[in-house]
Amino acid sequence: MAQWLSPCKSAITAALRPKIIHSHGFSTTTSRRIMETTGFTENQLTVREAVSAICSQFPNTYWQEKDQLEQDPKEFHAALAKDGWLGIALPEEHGGSGLGISEATMMMQTITESGAGMAGAQSIHANVYATQPLARFGNREQLENTIPNIISGKWRTCFGVTEPNTGLDTLRLKTTATKLGDGGYSVTGQKIWITCAQVARKMMLLARTTPLEEVQKPSEGLSLFCIDLDRDAAGLDMRKIKKMGGRAVDANEVFFDGYRIGPETLIGAENQGFKIILHGMNAERCLLAGEALGLGYAALAKAAAYARERVVFQRPIGMNQSIAHPLADAYMKLEAAKLATYHAARLYDSSRSDKTIRQDAVGVAANSAKYLAAEAAFTACERAVMTHGGMGYAMEYDVERYLRECLVPRIAPVSREMIMNYISEKVLQLPRSY
Ligand SMILES: Cc1cc2nc3c(=O)[nH]c(=O)nc-3n(C[C@H](O)[C@H](O)[C@H](O)COP(=O)(O)OP(=O)(O)OC[C@H]3O[C@@H](n4cnc5c(N)ncnc54)[C@H](O)[C@@H]3O)c2cc1C
Repeated sequence: MAQWLSPCKSAITAALRPKIIHSHGFSTTTSRRIMETTGFTENQLTVREAVSAICSQFPNTYWQEKDQLEQDPKEFHAALAKDGWLGIALPEEHGGSGLGISEATMMMQTITESGAGMAGAQSIHANVYATQPLARFGNREQLENTIPNIISGKWRTCFGVTEPNTGLDTLRLKTTATKLGDGGYSVTGQKIWITCAQVARKMMLLARTTPLEEVQKPSEGLSLFCIDLDRDAAGLDMRKIKKMGGRAVDANEVFFDGYRIGPETLIGAENQGFKIILHGMNAERCLLAGEALGLGYAALAKAAAYARERVVFQRPIGMNQSIAHPLADAYMKLEAAKLATYHAARLYDSSRSDKTIRQDAVGVAANSAKYLAAEAAFTACERAVMTHGGMGYAMEYDVERYLRECLVPRIAPVSREMIMNYISEKVLQLPRSY
């Protein structure tokens, strides 16, 4: 435990110096946290308290304003980076805290649950997650320079996988990185939905280095790169996408047209990119599940508070079972998803040293957790809006923001339909449908 005391200690110390970020004309209630915390480890609970202390400096009004003005929450990113939280799941030798995905998931949940929502989570998600393949497969420059700059918050990062013409069929992505005489590559193609590309210095880019026709399996011939996003260089352009929720963080179309990258940008071996990225996918499912859970609990806490206070027909609306029971049901769904999420995270962490834990078991657990948490969050957010009646539609009550944002974990990084496909095929051994 000693190895990670310093980031937490400094985080707590910082939280003891309260800062008022914004002062608005109206007040938004801070809700009581309702998740049952029995059974979590001391590490997880310490992370929850310390991260919560940082988040409390960024009230709902901060996130409302960032969402409305579509402004990057750079102060929030900087506050987490300052106390070392972006390196939570990295080994100490690379400047991290040496904790696991169980603790990182708790951190992401605590962020969304604070009211920061998916915008808060997405502002740091790639920084926490993208460093995982770098730490494991990165070259010396990537380990000694890139990772420390990402952890310190100096460099933001983004993940470039999704493409407009291939979508979830990742293995058929069309972006190519063609080898040049100097050992570097020329990148041509288009990415879409790339979160934080406007503010990122680095992109983890998945591109094809060997044509699909020349490989035995579509999973071969892809390579992962950690590239600079040099907006002044030839061959790179990007355009912001107007979107439904999480507007504080940018999402982008990114265009490459003969964009030059150096040989040192390659992560691990050429043509092994999909295997490398696969390595971190189960971890990302756990993080997303945690993010969904936090949003669901935040919405439900607000709904319960409103149902206790709002009086119509001379009694609190929460006395009506048609209001109370859907909220009780939403709570139990979140609690069930919580168990699935932290079970998956624990399996992921344990599988690193316990070789009796099969990777396919981790995959089933992590995918199931992401699915269940996203669905439970959606239920909670939708019911929270309905519980608020007309005020559910008003920005200042926050639940409309949560509802807009809770669709993200249902869609990304893999949709619920593809998780159904995965469970049907891998667990139930039904014929592959795609
Ligand atoms: C807010 C946001 C942020 C994102 N951030 C990033 C990012 O930073 N980096 C990045 O690379 N990507 C990012 N994404 C992209 C995200 O991962 C994709 O949107 C997601 O993987 C779905 O791909 P698609 O949109 O192309 O859907 P499509 O592949 O076009 O699928 C459309 C629909 O068809 C369904 N479908 C497709 N094939 C099948 C099948 N065989 N069986 C059943 N159903 C099927 C899907 O489930 C889905 O409902 C982000 C997306 C969003 C919305």
